[in-house]
Amino acid sequence: MLKIDSISVRYGNVEALHNLSLEIQEGEMVTLIGANGAGKTTTLKTLSGLLHPYSGRIEYMGRRIDGLSPAEIVKAGISQCPEGRMMWPEMTVLENLEMGAYVRRDKKRIKEDLERVYAHFPVLKERSGQLAGSLSGGEQQMLSMGRALMARPKLFLLDEPSLGLAPLLVQKTASIIKEIHREGTTIFLVEQNAYLALKMSDRGYVLETGKVVLQGKTEDLLRDERVKRAYLGQA
Ligand code: ATP
Repeated sequence: MLKIDSISVRYGNVEALHNLSLEIQEGEMVTLIGANGAGKTTTLKTLSGLLHPYSGRIEYMGRRIDGLSPAEIVKAGISQCPEGRMMWPEMTVLENLEMGAYVRRDKKRIKEDLERVYAHFPVLKERSGQLAGSLSGGEQQMLSMGRALMARPKLFLLDEPSLGLAPLLVQKTASIIKEIHREGTTIFLVEQNAYLALKMSDRGYVLETGKVVLQGKTEDLLRDERVKRAYLGQA
C-alpha cells in the first residue's frame, strides 16, 4: 500500500530524516517507535505532504505522492491524527468533525461516517454542540481521532495518541484503535510508548536520529535485547 523509498528530509540545514525506507501492506498495523527527536513526527508530516523530501520517493497505491499537497493526499485516502490534537477550540465538536470531511462531496456517506465516529466515541455525540476548547484532554484526543476518521482514510496515521493521557484512557484509546483496524483501516502508529505500540501492531520500525536502525515483526522486536534496553526499560 505504502512504500517510502530512501527519503531524506531537511529543516533548513538540519537533516531530520536520512535515507529512510519503510513499507506498509494493506490491512496491517505498523508502528514507528523512537526517542524524542528521532524523526517520528517528521516522517508523518512528510507522508501527509506538510513536508517534502529533498531526495527519495513515496508511493501509495502505486502512485507517487511525495510532491502532492496535503489536500490531495487526504483525497487519496491518507489522513493524520496529529500530535497535540490540534483541534479548533472556538468551533464545536460537530464543526470540528465536519471539517475532517472538508474535501469530500459524498454527503450520504459523510453522515454514515459521523455515526460511525459517534459509535466509537459516544462522548463526542453527547458533546457535539460544546466548544472543542472546553473538552478535557482525553476528549480532545478522541475528537482529533474522530476528525481524522471523517476523511474516511484507507491509511490512518496516528501521532502519539497516548501522549498525556491517564493510564485507563491509554488502554481505552488503544482498544478503539484496534477496533478501527479490525474494521479494515490500515494503521501507521507513531508512539513513544513503545511497549503499547509493539503489543498492538503487526510490524515495527525503530528510528534513531532520522535513520531506521531495526525493523521486524513486533513479537521479535519485543524480545530484542536492544529494544528491551532502550525502549522498554528492561535490563
Ligand atoms: P518527539 O517524540 O519529541 O515529538 P520526533 O521523533 O517526533 O520527536 P521530530 O519532531 O520529527 O521528532 O524531530 C526530528 C528532528 O527535527 C529533531 O532534531 C527536531 O529538533 C528537528 N525539527 C523538528 N521540527 C523542526 C523545525 N520546524 N525546524 C527545525 N528543526 C526541526
